[in-house]
Amino acid sequence: RLVGWWCMDLVAALRRAVGDDAVLTEADRQASFVTDWTGRFWGTTPAVVLPSSTDEVVAVLNACRAARAPWVPQGGNTGLVGGGVPVDGEVVVSTRRLRSMGPVDPTSLQITVGAGVTLAELDAHLAPMGLMYGIDFGARDSATIGGTIATNAGGTAVVLYGMTRHQVVGIEAVLPNGDVVSRLGGLAKDNTGYDLAGLLCGSEGTLGIITAARLHVRNRPTERAAAAFSVATIADALLLFGELRATGGLEQCEIMRAVDIAALENARALVGPAVWRTDDPWCILAEVVGPDAMTRLGAAVARVEERVALASAVAPSEAVRRSWWAVREAHPELARHFGEVLKLDVSVPLQALASFVDGLDEAIATAAAPTAAGAGADGAPRLVLFGHLGDANLHVNVGGDAALFAAIEDVVLARVLALRGAVSAEHGIGRAKREWLVADRGAAAVGAMWAVKVALDPWGLANPNVVFARSSS
Ligand code: FAD
Repeated sequence: RLVGWWCMDLVAALRRAVGDDAVLTEADRQASFVTDWTGRFWGTTPAVVLPSSTDEVVAVLNACRAARAPWVPQGGNTGLVGGGVPVDGEVVVSTRRLRSMGPVDPTSLQITVGAGVTLAELDAHLAPMGLMYGIDFGARDSATIGGTIATNAGGTAVVLYGMTRHQVVGIEAVLPNGDVVSRLGGLAKDNTGYDLAGLLCGSEGTLGIITAARLHVRNRPTERAAAAFSVATIADALLLFGELRATGGLEQCEIMRAVDIAALENARALVGPAVWRTDDPWCILAEVVGPDAMTRLGAAVARVEERVALASAVAPSEAVRRSWWAVREAHPELARHFGEVLKLDVSVPLQALASFVDGLDEAIATAAAPTAAGAGADGAPRLVLFGHLGDANLHVNVGGDAALFAAIEDVVLARVLALRGAVSAEHGIGRAKREWLVADRGAAAVGAMWAVKVALDPWGLANPNVVFARSSS
């Protein structure tokens, strides 16, 4: 009964903050906000709140603080680590209505955008001006600027442009105490005090709600050459990567497995290039941009062919290029064909990539062996492996029985740490990997992170169930 009154008071305060229409309390209207993309993380919430301005975000956080109600920011809800959904009854603060899009400053090549603008919307805005944003990946139609900053997202073009952190000039955010910190003036050199924008990059909603950002944009390449390859070994793949990067214009370099591409082509109406249907296990999709892109790509490939056997094909048209990318971008969904989905996003030093993948299938099968219960034809869980080669960032997806996932996660992430890698490369820690934070970063680093968290959020209201495990905090 007390909970009922508390909820009614809270909801009434939230309605005063943003208006009745922007507070969703009915289950059917909340449905898309309370379950994550993987379906592994879900919960309930007293309210989904959709503020339309920074002032309204302030009012929402003040109302939550007065009621001691925890909250979780949510952008496009495409996160893959369970960080943006209310697993423990938090208020969902959706940024979808923070959609301002300022003019591009043509001199500094910067733009200020609202946190709820999606990557695709930003790209559509910039493209007619011959400009682009440096972050892109398959969830572009839903993933937001705020969410990508909060996760320090990567994607397919990191190899040339860097992570989201490298695109951010300044941020406006509301802190848990209701204060607004805003630095959107766009100074190229701006070293007065701590870098709060840098701190908020990758903070996963635990330090405040990002409401807007000042971003670098760049000239859209006028020339682009895409090529597909298959290679026998990771060592050959890295040789190819090195030569392509030496062109100075390597914008994308994705790695997949022939076995997964074959499964995708069977399961869906997708067709990759013939070179991905050879006996070689590793398939690569790469793009070189800039003047004479095709010539530089061809010269790099010729240098590789002098040293190792290589099958290659250049995309003859934009339509073919897009069809190859459709195969790559379908990979995140492939594991669903084999059962429930475990998603592990990891990175290792480039020189350790071969050690990481060698025997990975067998290690996963062994980890699952005592309880193997369905997924692959032989009852074993099915590994789907792909990622961003140049960043040595692999997505280890496993389809199968969720009862096996804890043992598989232990094996895969222990392997990552033994090779001095990171248990989160670009997706964040969220709820999924909290127990691994100390093992990855060490107690001193996590202690420093926790001190920052407590200083800014002494009430423990800002996305309280992510990043820190109860035992580490
Ligand atoms: P959400 O999922 O809504 O939230 C993610 C986290 O950020 C949560 O902790 C949330 O609380 C917090 N948050 C959201 N908005 C704010 C805000 N305004 N202020 C403070 N905190 C906030 N990621 C990559 O990095 N690279 C990829 O290549 C990639 N590919 C993907 C492909 C597919 C098909 C899918 C489904 C996802 C992919 N992702 C990838 C993961 C995901 O798209 C990114 O993590 C993205 O940055 C999440 O953005 P979002 O707006 O959906 O955030």
